[in-house]
Amino acid sequence: NLPATVGAELLVPLADGRVTDYANFDHGASAPCLESVRAAVEAALPSYASVHRGNGYASRITTQWYERARAEVHAFVGARADDQVIFTRQTTDALNLLARAVPADATVIVFESEHHAALLPWPAERTIRLAAPSSATQAVTAVADALRTAPEGPRLVVVTGASNVTGEIFPIAEIAAVAKAHAARVCLDAAQLAPHRLVDIAELEVDWVALSGHKLYAPYGTGALIGRADWLNTADPYLYGGGATETVSAEGTVWNQGPARHEGGSPNVIGAIALAAACAAITKHREAIEQHERSLLARLRTGLAQVPGVATYSIFGEEADRVGTVCFTVDGLNSTVVSAALSAEYGIGVRDGKFCAHPLVGHLLADSAEHATAVRASLGLGTTREHVDRLVNAIRTLATVGLTSTYEESTHGCQP
Ligand code: PMP
Repeated sequence: NLPATVGAELLVPLADGRVTDYANFDHGASAPCLESVRAAVEAALPSYASVHRGNGYASRITTQWYERARAEVHAFVGARADDQVIFTRQTTDALNLLARAVPADATVIVFESEHHAALLPWPAERTIRLAAPSSATQAVTAVADALRTAPEGPRLVVVTGASNVTGEIFPIAEIAAVAKAHAARVCLDAAQLAPHRLVDIAELEVDWVALSGHKLYAPYGTGALIGRADWLNTADPYLYGGGATETVSAEGTVWNQGPARHEGGSPNVIGAIALAAACAAITKHREAIEQHERSLLARLRTGLAQVPGVATYSIFGEEADRVGTVCFTVDGLNSTVVSAALSAEYGIGVRDGKFCAHPLVGHLLADSAEHATAVRASLGLGTTREHVDRLVNAIRTLATVGLTSTYEESTHGCQP
């Protein structure tokens, strides 16, 4: 199980008398805060002040914290010296920011298997949507073919690091190499990958990375877009206001270059501190986290494979490398009913629905006469072997014995 040093990162949840030893299999949506993140926030709370504005001691310290947080996030993804880190609200915000900075004559290439946050922000008339890939090789070929026939001008390939539905890892370096050969840029949606695997911008040779703090064991409200400055420095500011400007006069406004251009308004300093602390903790424990999650994922997948009536779904096939996420359905049971029963009867939290990836879920379930939605179990640092066994046993009981209570069916499904 988890080494003690890593285990010490887990906060003890407040017991409210209803759920004891909650088995959280919803890390893919949001992961609970780490101890070192809580400590970093708590240390900053008593003395933070204005940032980038005041000359008082507290203001200067706060500005230092904020810029140190930026440097930590920069290092977390192995960014190049001239890459910039722009703090955003989350991945959705980061990708929308980049979409605003895409040159007017650019073509965007994106797989339909993306999360809506990566699928939707791009200008429709200049976006080429590729079908969900059938294999890693086909994914690379599809990008190459699209680039070969795309109109002249700048191009951007948008690709996820790991699918939020199946956890499968995309062939990022290979896609980036093909993009480079066609002088195209690459944006990596690392929302699901960064919490579980090393993301190294320079090594992968991608141009931008987007990530979310709340999936990286920091609280909500902070994410980042990290990468090349050029498109961003010539784009209109994301938010018009103080902080984004160099000078404002009757003659006009000169906007800042660098991150400040797109960080108009007072920044979320505490959020940045939290995100940076999470990045530092994940980096420190990376090997243990990966080992822990790999072994639990193998146990979960083996366990579910032995339950009759359970189907698991994948984009690339069983052999694909993946983070700790499994997407499945249970014959005869609506996915909402499965997740409601897991919660009510077993203290297990999973997600059901279409996971803000409607085209991908439609593709994965295309052959299913019964299911339009699925169940997603995503594990993380706090997951234990007992949690995995509890989930597998619960699914076995539901699949073989059936329900002991009634639950409302639903075909909903677009929470993150
Ligand atoms: N991309 C992927 C792959 C995701 O899993 C998510 C969140 N489910 C997002 C983007 C959007 O993240 P956020 O809601 O934090 O903006």
